[in-house]
Amino acid sequence: MRELKERILKDGQALNEAVLKVDSFINHQVDPKLMENIGNTFAEKFSNDRITKVVTIESSGIAPSVFTAKAMGVDLVILKKSTSKILDDNIVQTKVASFTKGTEYQLTLNKRYINAEDRVLIIDDFLAQGEAAQGAIRLIEAQGAEVVGIGILIEKAFQPGNKALRDKGYPVYSLARIKSLSNGHIEFLEEE
Ligand code: 5GP
Repeated sequence: MRELKERILKDGQALNEAVLKVDSFINHQVDPKLMENIGNTFAEKFSNDRITKVVTIESSGIAPSVFTAKAMGVDLVILKKSTSKILDDNIVQTKVASFTKGTEYQLTLNKRYINAEDRVLIIDDFLAQGEAAQGAIRLIEAQGAEVVGIGILIEKAFQPGNKALRDKGYPVYSLARIKSLSNGHIEFLEEE
């Protein structure tokens, strides 16, 4: 997606060889017009897949996912990284390693919001090791639902997440695929 790639080149910052900072338009401050265009792009890409739910992981996946779900006319389910203090025996959890924080968290879903009839599109801001996406897949499939596609804003193609998901047969559609972040320079894979 040209608009996203141009914005990454303009405002993104390669913090080191592995981490891209996009705080000014995705992760801290959010550009809603860009998020809306991203949502429309995902909705169009998966328009023939009879998606019934969009699922994302809090918090940075929420903005683009809201627009995706709105464009598709379906509800959005936000997987939680922390459990509410209000006890609820209706939840399923799976452990996920955080790439950026170097910690682990329990990804949590209330079973009420995904059922065996659902055809799910997962949306997230980044794909790195693929841990977050695979955690989401575990929770969704545990409900008997089907993961029909995975939409990613920024895929770091030099990390193993993309291969891990594609090898398992999940269609991954990334709007910007980064080849390298070496020497503070952001380089995309040549495609389109
Ligand atoms: P994974 O589970 O694929 O290793 O990492 C995905 C999650 O880690 C994303 O949801 C995102 O929040 C975070 N993440 C991974 N790499 C980056 C990065 O380079 N920059 C930022 N801002 N977040 C990242």
